[in-house]
Amino acid sequence: MLKRIAVMTSGGDSPGMNAATRAVVRTAIHSGVEVCGIRNGYKGMLEGDIFDMNTRSVSDIIQRGGTILGTARSKEFQTEEGRAKGYEMLKSRGIEGLVVIGGDGSLRGAQAFSEEQPISVVGLPGTIDNDIWGMDYTIGSDTAANTIVDAINKLRDTASAHQRIAILEVMGRSCGWLALISGLAGGAEYILVPEEHYDIDQMCDEITQMYAQSRHRYVLIIVAEGAGSGVELGDIIQMKTGIDTRASVLGHIQRGGSPSVQDRVYASLLGEEATLALISGVSNVVFSRNNGSPVSVNLHDAITRKKTLKAELLHMAKVLS
Ligand code: ADP
Repeated sequence: MLKRIAVMTSGGDSPGMNAATRAVVRTAIHSGVEVCGIRNGYKGMLEGDIFDMNTRSVSDIIQRGGTILGTARSKEFQTEEGRAKGYEMLKSRGIEGLVVIGGDGSLRGAQAFSEEQPISVVGLPGTIDNDIWGMDYTIGSDTAANTIVDAINKLRDTASAHQRIAILEVMGRSCGWLALISGLAGGAEYILVPEEHYDIDQMCDEITQMYAQSRHRYVLIIVAEGAGSGVELGDIIQMKTGIDTRASVLGHIQRGGSPSVQDRVYASLLGEEATLALISGVSNVVFSRNNGSPVSVNLHDAITRKKTLKAELLHMAKVLS
């Protein structure tokens, strides 16, 4: 059983990271294990920016977006020498285990760290993209999807008033989950994701007909950034259809905000599971949910295997559009 562990957040922030940090700290203390916080991800680890935490250190944070521990990117940690230095920083403080909360880059770092150094490392998937293999949930993805749906509702009002085509570009460079789930929940006519081919000419023909037959007062298109630029798409569609088109890019608003109930509860549950596993000797796995059941996925699999979008969601998007 480990006696002293550390927790850090890394890479892109996501709502619910604080709830996860809080659960790690309180579970450790409840189990009689000392816990430290590392500020600003791997960068802070290499700088020795490490401090003791207690139950009060994580008071009043479950409702906050961002991360009280801070996050950063570190080039040095991507080298073997950097990771060896990181290990020395932890060892000198008596830290025997580490919880890394972050996206696929951070989990890559966690995997390399646990393979090379004699330290136990577990991961929690903190990313709004929901792009980690082996799980259908990542911390922050639900809040981000709700933020997008809120934006869709607002765009719908104004697009309808003016009979416009509204395009919303959302995050997702290689994974279209956010676009797909929020497009489905927001009732978008078209959802463009990097995983699927789309025919822009056919789309423009269909939209022209929808307007000609007065079937639609407006059209909503959600595009993941990896499937193309919303602004460029808007220019093309307006040129081809002659219909007034407006594109919006939601940007970093998607990362912020108070976490949803789901993100708070899951982040808490996963934080507890990861901490209990870590202190009992588990290493090199990432904890989440898949189809509602707890999963612990090997870190190597989580970062090397490519997640695909659920076929039934893609199907629903086509049926309902
Ligand atoms: P995210 O975790 O949100 O995907 P990044 O991709 O920026 O964010 O990764 C965060 C940090 O994780 C990087 O700054 C780097 O320190 C570390 N990291 C990323 N990829 C690797 C890797 N292949 N090996 C070691 N560390 C990595």
